[in-house]
Amino acid sequence: MRNRLWYSLLGGLIGLGAPLGALLLHTWPTWDMAIVLAEYRQYDFFYVYMSISTLVAVMAFGFFMGHLADRLRAKELQFKELAIRDDLTGIYNRRYFRMRLDEELHRAIRYKSELNLILFDLDFFKATNDQYGHVAGDHILRAIADLVYKRIRESDIFARYGGEEFILILPETSQNNAFRFIEMLREEIAARTFQADGHSVKITISAGLCSVQQNEGDLSEINAVELLKATDFALYEAKNGGRNQTRIYVRQSS
Ligand code: GH3
Ligand code: MG
Ligand code: MG
Repeated sequence: MRNRLWYSLLGGLIGLGAPLGALLLHTWPTWDMAIVLAEYRQYDFFYVYMSISTLVAVMAFGFFMGHLADRLRAKELQFKELAIRDDLTGIYNRRYFRMRLDEELHRAIRYKSELNLILFDLDFFKATNDQYGHVAGDHILRAIADLVYKRIRESDIFARYGGEEFILILPETSQNNAFRFIEMLREEIAARTFQADGHSVKITISAGLCSVQQNEGDLSEINAVELLKATDFALYEAKNGGRNQTRIYVRQSS
């Protein structure tokens, strides 16, 4: 949209440049305006015609080029967006999440702020798929992504980590608040009945939470891979502990 406008204006200026330039060149090197006026009076039709026709023609060309540039830019933005989204749920994909985790972790370490990572997984989802079918399973994945998406803050990053696993980065959040948040989500999901492909389905989730906190000593030791491993371990404990629960990763003090 912007290019269309600017390219048209530029086209207009270039278009006017031709007749005006020709007229002014007649005064070279004296710059006597009387010569310009005489020249104009003699060929007024030519100059008026040139002023209008080249202006319109080059402006139209500028508009067309701008239109192409705008379309290219829109496509570029569309492809950029597609590259970072999960196609089933529309939330961020794993690749984008990994990039953001590195960034957010650096930021948390640099500014000594708290950061929480939450990995959650749908319980016995294979059985749900087997019982109600894959289409119903897909509906549920989308419904859960929508539900969580509505509850997060703008600064939180929410992504589909894998098949029925989702991940959340909650920057600038205390462990307590992150725990309360995921517990609220877990309870809301457990209490809800999902309508999927004509079936009423109950679902629970298990979650693992790992925090990077200010008072933890040497934060430069922590990297994204270690953080992910720790969160995955907490999720594994939640599954082992009977599912439909959240576990917090506790770092062993050395
Ligand atoms: P657990 O409580 O231990 O997590 O059990 P589970 O059955 O959820 O775990 P498992 O890893 O055995 O199975 C995961 C299931 O998730 C299997 C697969 O069919 C389903 N799944 C993964 N991705 C998708 C998807 O995109 N759509 C649908 N409908 N199902 C999916
Ligand atoms: Mg599962
Ligand atoms: Mg899983």
